[in-house]
Amino acid sequence: MLWRREGQCDGCKRPGVEPAQCCRVFEVVDLSQLLSQWTAEEQADYRRWASYHEGVELRGDMLLMHSPCRQLTEDGRCAIYGEHPDLCKIWPALPEDLECFSDCAFRFVEVEEGASYGSD
Ligand code: SF4
Ligand code: SF4
Repeated sequence: MLWRREGQCDGCKRPGVEPAQCCRVFEVVDLSQLLSQWTAEEQADYRRWASYHEGVELRGDMLLMHSPCRQLTEDGRCAIYGEHPDLCKIWPALPEDLECFSDCAFRFVEVEEGASYGSD
């Protein structure tokens, strides 16, 4: 399936949304397959264990790390914008990148052929 990315980054500067979310939090691993093999009690125990760890969040079945980028300024800008890593420029590259970032200003639409990954 091919997708085209639409929208433009607004830095998440909207009421009720944490600015520059994707510069503060990143996805470590999708645990859905692993957790589906566990009992409800085991899953609850894992979620409780995760909740005790600083900087770790289980959002659904995604393990996220809260670790703000050192290049993020206090007012939510990138201090090295223009020289920032390609990884930052292409994110979100795929629809699944937004699974934990529903407040992102980008969206993906299914297309017949050719995918766009944007270049902001
Ligand atoms: S380098 Fe800039 S764009 Fe990339 S995560 Fe850090 S602050 Fe965000
Ligand atoms: S989550 Fe989306 S809108 Fe928010 S800073 Fe990142 S790319 Fe921009």
